[in-house]
Amino acid sequence: MKNKVLIVPLTRCFVFDFIEDWRRNIYGVLSSITPYIDVEVWPEILKLPMSCFDWSRKQYVGPCILDYLANIFRDLRDGSVFVIGVGYIDAYDEGLNFVFGEASPSRGIAFVSTQRLDPALYSTSKYAGKRYDLYVERVSKEILHELGHLLGLRHCSNPKCVMSFSNSVFEVDSKTMYYCERCSTKIAEAFSLM
Ligand SMILES: [Zn+2]
Ligand SMILES: [Zn+2]
Repeated sequence: MKNKVLIVPLTRCFVFDFIEDWRRNIYGVLSSITPYIDVEVWPEILKLPMSCFDWSRKQYVGPCILDYLANIFRDLRDGSVFVIGVGYIDAYDEGLNFVFGEASPSRGIAFVSTQRLDPALYSTSKYAGKRYDLYVERVSKEILHELGHLLGLRHCSNPKCVMSFSNSVFEVDSKTMYYCERCSTKIAEAFSLM
């Protein structure tokens, strides 16, 4: 049976136009590891409820997003569908200034918040002319990273592996979009066991 990664757009701004490029990147990485996977994009934008927005911090609350997605997609949850919400938002969790994403492996739900991955927010001269490619690449990495968590992977000590932990956008840039050999093996195993 094929498993499915379902990418759900949470905002239109700076997300929707690029989504086919992420899908292609993500499918490319995964299909080189396992034949048991499809990557699809949810055809509508799923707006997050303002009850998940913390007005004092002007950020979304990570666990609230996970609960919301888990509730909306509860009927899809049969263990073979992984739902990853992606939005041009900023989010945090307790004790952290921000998160690039979060995952709830037991529910097969994750999200990626892309606002801090936007090259426009940082030194523009360095990124002149490659803003689009860099943004798509960063978002692809973070989606693949959260998917790794959904499949039971922890953070990897190989700094080039997409499962290495990134505390800043510079660390996102210094890792590759690919799973290292050890993480790839775990992913292939996880899919073949499903
Ligand atoms: Zn992580
Ligand atoms: Zn690894």
